[in-house]
Amino acid sequence: MPPPGPHKTDAPDVKRRCHRCHGSGRAPCQICNGSGQVRKGNDRQGRPHFERCEGCFGLKTTRCRVCSGEGFVPG
Ligand SMILES: [Zn+2]
Ligand SMILES: [Zn+2]
Repeated sequence: MPPPGPHKTDAPDVKRRCHRCHGSGRAPCQICNGSGQVRKGNDRQGRPHFERCEGCFGLKTTRCRVCSGEGFVPG
């Protein structure tokens, strides 16, 4: 039985770390800019009125859309 040929398997990993979320799978919400709330005009006293962001539900981050939350993208 011949020895295994020079069949190297150290090819670069097929998946690369996502450049947008840096592998975390989460990215700052684009709608509220990571604040978790969005301004909805002013209240009766003329003060800024904020409501929970509907894009991230107040979590301030959303699933990275570049890698779909995987943290890695196909190389
Ligand atoms: Zn948000
Ligand atoms: Zn990502």
